[in-house]
Amino acid sequence: MNIAITCPQCGAEVELAEEDTVFKCLYCGSILKPTGRNRVQSFFISPKETAHKVGTALLRALKDKDSKDLHIVGHHLLYAPYWRVNGMLFQWVFGKKYFKSPGGQKAWENFKKLRATPWFRTFPAFDSSKWSLFSLGLRAQVLKIWPFNKQKMGKDPLLIKQTISFKEAIDQAQKSIVSQRSSGSIQVEMLNSELIGERYSLLYFPFYCYTLKKNGKQSLLIVDALSHKVIKGHVDIDELKRTSSGDKIPYKPLNFIPFKCPNCGWDFSFKPHTTIHVCKTCGRAWQEKGGSYVPVLYRISLKEKSKNITWKYLAFWRLTGIIKTKDKEYKTLKEFYDLFPLPRVLDEEAIKRRNISFYIPAIRIKNVKMVDKFSAQLTLAQPQFTEIEIDTIEDLDLSDVWLTLKDAKEMAHVLLYSMTKKEHKKTKNVVKDAQIHFTNSRLLWIPFVEKGIYLRESQTDFALQKNALYLPTLTDP
Ligand SMILES: [Zn+2]
Ligand SMILES: [Zn+2]
Repeated sequence: MNIAITCPQCGAEVELAEEDTVFKCLYCGSILKPTGRNRVQSFFISPKETAHKVGTALLRALKDKDSKDLHIVGHHLLYAPYWRVNGMLFQWVFGKKYFKSPGGQKAWENFKKLRATPWFRTFPAFDSSKWSLFSLGLRAQVLKIWPFNKQKMGKDPLLIKQTISFKEAIDQAQKSIVSQRSSGSIQVEMLNSELIGERYSLLYFPFYCYTLKKNGKQSLLIVDALSHKVIKGHVDIDELKRTSSGDKIPYKPLNFIPFKCPNCGWDFSFKPHTTIHVCKTCGRAWQEKGGSYVPVLYRISLKEKSKNITWKYLAFWRLTGIIKTKDKEYKTLKEFYDLFPLPRVLDEEAIKRRNISFYIPAIRIKNVKMVDKFSAQLTLAQPQFTEIEIDTIEDLDLSDVWLTLKDAKEMAHVLLYSMTKKEHKKTKNVVKDAQIHFTNSRLLWIPFVEKGIYLRESQTDFALQKNALYLPTLTDP
């Protein structure tokens, strides 16, 4: 989905891809930071064709099978708000798979499976009990949307009142991601669905409402102003005229701020997908919140420069947390390894004193399963990195940051399932209703060495396939 934008510098109509965090004007080349993309924003969609044109076609279609005495006596453009939610669905399924053994007996084995797929839904944000368009369907993925602006929405548009709040929309989305299906040979025992990186937008969708007159009797007809299909629905035009007069903008529209470091004034380097911007000059990192930049603290596990090795630093969130269930807390590494046992012998005394860290990749990911596996491996190993604060990143090869802290926390919860062995009943029972209480979080760049198609983590030597990630620094000179 693309957002139509008027370039604040040159006034040209340009488009911003929905996932872009930085805007670059095709015409004048100015680079700006669109604000509020990490929050709910309101948009509208323009009708296709004028009310007159659609009305004429409608009348023609109706007259074919109906009486000649049919007229349009009035029409309105109205907008109905829909929630649009999109994100990445992570779904871990644990269960039993039944099969016939070679001897013919019924047998079963445990299985676990990760499903990771882009997910999106649209649903009405208004009282839709008398409305037949419950979803905008797939087209909501490809439509061009405009930041909410009543002046640009047509002459005297009527707005149907939003009654489903943001909080209710979250509940509705949460309900629809949980589906538990057992089929003939598969029995689902445990399922965890998590929507990561989800974004909520309020889309004002256009309809034409015609007042028809036939043999002296009036009736209303509502038409989808994009597909031009008749919608079963009812609206009270007089009521709408009263309620939609207010010019209150439902959610803040998008705005622009300079794409410059607020500390030293130098331009950030243009990376369209990064959510945290690191200043090459003064080394500070920033994130946009509420229309301005706020500092993000970070550390680097810095390696000595050497002639033979070029270190690639990949961004991770290092989250410290306590795993909590109704009746137990897992606070130390000792307790962590009771839950997720390792085959090797550990220093009991040392692990009693250490906290539990989750290592969540903050890089933009291409292959979710590969990265999930790596992240589970690294978290199970619980490496300890030196974490250094630096003044300048100079020529260090730092990856972009894509995953926000909020999403990283949700990913940590997914990791509990990733680390659980499919046959481990005790762990499954704990993980099923476990929550993580986070006590500390840090953005941390961890050094990797490039070896063939892999990047190898310097301490554990665990390998991550390069093509599982979006790494512009590896291909760009
Ligand atoms: Zn421009
Ligand atoms: Zn700076």
